[in-house]
Amino acid sequence: MATENQRQPSKLEKPINGKRLLFFSLPLQGHMTPMLQLADILHSKGFSITFIHTKYNSPNPSNYPHFTFQPISDDLSEAETSGLSVFDLAYLINVKCVAPFRDCLDQLFSDSPEERPFAGLISDPALHFTREVAKSFQLQRFVLRTSGVGAFRAFSSFPLLQEKGYLPIQDSQLEELVAELPPLRVKDLPVINVPDLEKFYKLIASLIEEAKTSSGVIFNSFEELENSAIDALHEGFPAPIFPIGPFHKYFPATSSSFLKPDESSISWLDKQEPKSVIYVSFGSIAAVEEKEFLEIAWGLANSKCRFLWVIRPGSVNGLDWHEALPKGFLDMLDGRGHIVKWASQLEVLAHPAVGAFWTHNGWNSTLESISEGVPMICMPCFADQMVNARYVTYSWKVGVELRNGLERKNIERAIRRLMVEEEGEEIRKRALDLKEKAKSTLTQSGASFKSLESLISCLSSS
Ligand code: UDP
Repeated sequence: MATENQRQPSKLEKPINGKRLLFFSLPLQGHMTPMLQLADILHSKGFSITFIHTKYNSPNPSNYPHFTFQPISDDLSEAETSGLSVFDLAYLINVKCVAPFRDCLDQLFSDSPEERPFAGLISDPALHFTREVAKSFQLQRFVLRTSGVGAFRAFSSFPLLQEKGYLPIQDSQLEELVAELPPLRVKDLPVINVPDLEKFYKLIASLIEEAKTSSGVIFNSFEELENSAIDALHEGFPAPIFPIGPFHKYFPATSSSFLKPDESSISWLDKQEPKSVIYVSFGSIAAVEEKEFLEIAWGLANSKCRFLWVIRPGSVNGLDWHEALPKGFLDMLDGRGHIVKWASQLEVLAHPAVGAFWTHNGWNSTLESISEGVPMICMPCFADQMVNARYVTYSWKVGVELRNGLERKNIERAIRRLMVEEEGEEIRKRALDLKEKAKSTLTQSGASFKSLESLISCLSSS
């Protein structure tokens, strides 16, 4: 039976400005969070929101009582999804959700008294089938690309990179600059370690095609941050581009975490000195080997700095949680470290006690850190994280790179560069400048403000 927030289409609210929007996200934390934030932003501009979602990793409707949620069957069993890579999951959803998505639109359209009940669909370009389905309903389709523009540009250059011999990556070329994609080196290209590279290239090609054929590509980024990548993308890219981020700074964000944040993160931070803590988290997907995990632990311990460390259950390959930590590890640190399974990251990064963020450079984490002026230690693991880390360390110069082997000595060195040495002070100043830019882009004279206005006008004109 439908709950209050999973109302049937016939009960759709009458939209304030006569416009309803449909949303459909890939069910992954780093995709769902910005999609919900975007829906909230557009709701605040007068649109009514219908949020279509899979049952797998479904959002919590009670956090968004102002949206209508529409679950669709995904036919994904727990056995099928456990241990599945992100790319295999995306692949499976693209196979299994076509018919349920079509049925859902069918129902929504046939139950509505209006001839054109929806102003448009905003979907994830990784959901390739939404193009054909939206077309058959004559539904205007926009996409939200949840990476940065720099990374998107690199993905869209894959055919060229293959033609020029940069891809597949050869170990002997890692340090080479990619002349066609400054400032990237070969080792910064957004690849993943999969057995079937052709399948990966095909998925990326479909994602780019979805974006190219849309009515517009929305980015959780801003012109003042990524102007050169945005300018470069404009050249020859057929669809309009709307960088309107940072999304979470429009108003206090509602929680969209699949995991429950541990509130002790904040109460522990409350007891620490300003800028004294390094926050460590590698997002919702990245995982490390047990050996690397122990190097992280000893690197943190030996740095003598205070740390808040998110160890997500399952984020150490082969372990349930942190059972490989040496016995008495935390006691030995005498209160210098605090470990949780999940944190309220936005609150943590905005906390005065946090002085640096050791991150995997997922795009959300990167942008959240930039928005709070927190310098980063960059440890990218795969895909767009490599590109983001390069921009952070080389272009924006608001972080240091930790790539040459995950060894305790390197870790200790990177932490001290940021937290103790003069270099860290310079980096912190630049991070604060960037924070100001992230703030001012949302004001009336800012680029994101203007871009949002033009997006609204496109959405309203259908
Ligand atoms: N996040 C969180 N608590 C944590 C770790 C991560 O709330 O303990 C959130 C973080 O704020 C971000 C998202 O999870 O919005 C992770 O997205 P990102 O793009 O950084 O990385 P991904 O998980 O997609 O690799």
